[in-house]
Amino acid sequence: MQIAFIGLGNMGGPMAINLHKAGHSVKAFDLSQDALAKVKAEGLQVAASAQDAVQGAEAIVTMLPASQHVEGLFLGNGNLLASIAKGTLVIDSSTIAAATSQKVAKAAEAAGIDFIDAPVSGGTGGAIAGTLTFMVGGSTAQLERARPLLEKMGANIFHAGSVGAGQTAKICNNMLLGILMVGTSEAIALGVANGLDPKVLSEIMRRSSGGNWALEKYNPFPGVHENAPASKGYAGGFGTDLMLKDLGLSQENAIATKASTPLGGMARAIYAAHSIAGHGGEDFSSVIKMVQKKG
Ligand code: NAD
Repeated sequence: MQIAFIGLGNMGGPMAINLHKAGHSVKAFDLSQDALAKVKAEGLQVAASAQDAVQGAEAIVTMLPASQHVEGLFLGNGNLLASIAKGTLVIDSSTIAAATSQKVAKAAEAAGIDFIDAPVSGGTGGAIAGTLTFMVGGSTAQLERARPLLEKMGANIFHAGSVGAGQTAKICNNMLLGILMVGTSEAIALGVANGLDPKVLSEIMRRSSGGNWALEKYNPFPGVHENAPASKGYAGGFGTDLMLKDLGLSQENAIATKASTPLGGMARAIYAAHSIAGHGGEDFSSVIKMVQKKG
């Protein structure tokens, strides 16, 4: 299949490479020359613009930072929708506001284009391994159209509901992830302040009632998990500012629905302070620095 892939960052790059490895013809575009060079080195075609990428594409996958990037791309100055052929499938895997997914999907439908939201979970490790979890919002027919492509990038595909529902599921998950990373950081920092070995303590908690995904795969303490961002100077991974965006989306949603999410609100405030302190570009597990004893 001829596929256009737009947004080749920490997640989009490896996802596009997996589609290419599965035998699809992938034409990739990103505003960053570095991101383009990485996928070119893996044998993907690179496009000169988003418009160029979508020419002749049967399906388009986008993996962009936030709502304004997705809305700007499809409906803004570039008005990419006007360059997309009728009948094309668009899979947006960015984590954005459900209302933005619905707005773009409505404009796409009017142009005869299938647009679904399919945000992901599983981190950069899952993107590289092709084991992501997709949370899809759209009709059953649209999901079935997308499934063969999603299966090349992920291991779990859930139909959350109509368009926008994938985004709602995603912000619920990430609100929980943001909270549990702060809690895990607090627990490890407390143990270390008492002289415990972070590896031993992490293993005790992993196998006890505090066990969670951060302790399994993404420990915030350097050196516990060799491949986690914490062991690589908090580089790559899932940026603090992206987590802050997702916690903001969950709080906007909580306000709109009068939901009570006190820990989600507190987590947003903690990541905001961490970002202001200069850690916005580091992986979100660097939030442990907020609770670690210095020196
Ligand atoms: P990233 O910042 O590494 O990559 C985003 C890429 O989009 C960048 O390369 C940027 O140059 C490009 N871009 C921005 N605007 C563009 C445009 N108009 N046209 C073309 N390219 C454009 O971000 P990421 O970590 O890959 O995350 C992407 C999305 O996936 C975000 O919504 C994030 O919340 C979500 N997400 C990330 C992770 C993770 O672990 N990193 C996990 C799940 C979901």
